[in-house]
Amino acid sequence: MADIGLNCVPVYPDNPSIEKNMALCTSCGHCLAVCREEIGVAAHMTAGERFACVHCGQCVAACPEGALRVRDSLQAVRQAVQDPEKVVVVSTAPAVRVGLAECFGEPAGTFAEGRMVQALRALGVNYVLDVAFAADLTILEEGTELLKRLLSGKGTLPQFTSCCPAWVKYIETFHPERIPNLSSAKSPIGMQGALIKTYFAGQMGLDPEQIVTVTVAPCSAKKFEITREEQGSVGALLGIPTLRDNDYVLTTNELAHWIQEEKIPFRDLEPSPFDSLMGESSGAGLIFGNTGGVMEAALRMAYSSVTGKAPAELLLSYQPVRGMEQIKEAVVQLGEREVRVAIIYGTRAAEQLIQNGQIDSFDFVEVMTCPGGCISGAGQPSGKVVPVPDQVRERRIGALYRADQTRSIRSSLDNPEIKQIYDKFLDHPLSPQAERLLHTAYHDRSESH
Ligand code: SF4
Repeated sequence: MADIGLNCVPVYPDNPSIEKNMALCTSCGHCLAVCREEIGVAAHMTAGERFACVHCGQCVAACPEGALRVRDSLQAVRQAVQDPEKVVVVSTAPAVRVGLAECFGEPAGTFAEGRMVQALRALGVNYVLDVAFAADLTILEEGTELLKRLLSGKGTLPQFTSCCPAWVKYIETFHPERIPNLSSAKSPIGMQGALIKTYFAGQMGLDPEQIVTVTVAPCSAKKFEITREEQGSVGALLGIPTLRDNDYVLTTNELAHWIQEEKIPFRDLEPSPFDSLMGESSGAGLIFGNTGGVMEAALRMAYSSVTGKAPAELLLSYQPVRGMEQIKEAVVQLGEREVRVAIIYGTRAAEQLIQNGQIDSFDFVEVMTCPGGCISGAGQPSGKVVPVPDQVRERRIGALYRADQTRSIRSSLDNPEIKQIYDKFLDHPLSPQAERLLHTAYHDRSESH
């Protein structure tokens, strides 16, 4: 492994996700260790080279001194909420609802979906929608793409998931030859923003230029993702180049600070439901927050698409793709076809499978950068022990699986708001309209990080 001649991860002023206070840094090296051994980025770097951050923020999660921080967007969001000319639409990612309550002294794994929505209403936002809705949509688009690649025999396999922007940037930077493996589907957040300023705006009679889209996410890399050039699909469609699909990302921690600053009694709030049109989700959409969740959701959908039947009982709690093991494998029978899948967290682990060629023995590969998936993204509460122990991660994971089990809708295909958006706006998965707003392209960053 190359020596980069540094004790800690360098953070440049133009990093859209992470910042560093050098005065607090003791050069302990925890950040560099995680970046090298878990994420694998530092392992690619050589001394003197510009450091290619993928923005996952696991260095922040490992920093015991508070020297590394996720960049804060709260001030800009507060201003938008106070501006009477703006309509602020907030969407919350699945993992936020199982992390937020920890910031208010509640046990890890407390499921606080309804109170989170009510807190956002109390903060004055105009609409509260659910990224888990767009997770269901991602499954339809990405799952249909997978079936097309599998059944036509023409597309590149294995298909890699594309919902983790740190993983996407890792491939663009260190394995551009693997870009064709990435699903062209945007992440749920990417889809949600594009649809709020088109479909939701149209249905609600809102001017897209008036809307400010805010996502609350567990993730620092999402702050980078929304700045990607390709995330201006609404502006391209409407001929307004300055219009972005997503305007701001707040982390779970930033939302908690906002609630605390406004003295909203989070623990005593009455639960509130999401707003409709883009606020309904299946259990499959919810488990996106966990390692293996995207895979399980995709398998439920693919099974129903291929067989015409509801997902088999086995796929409603599919153990081979669950748990904190870093690399998991399974073989699933879809009609006539045996499908081999892999579930990985930590880009360093994915790198090992790429290096030894094992990755090509699979048809579909889910990669999440953070340990256990988005439930331990850099924007989640850290507690007293840094980084958060696996026991905390498992409790958050357990909370999402329990919520999945109690949802009346378990498969993305059965979400009525998903059926409605295809009927009224998108037509069908991979339609021209869906390709325009819900799919994206990637580019080689090997020379330009
Ligand atoms: Fe963000 Fe989730 Fe990827 Fe972590 S695993 S970088 S939280 S998308």
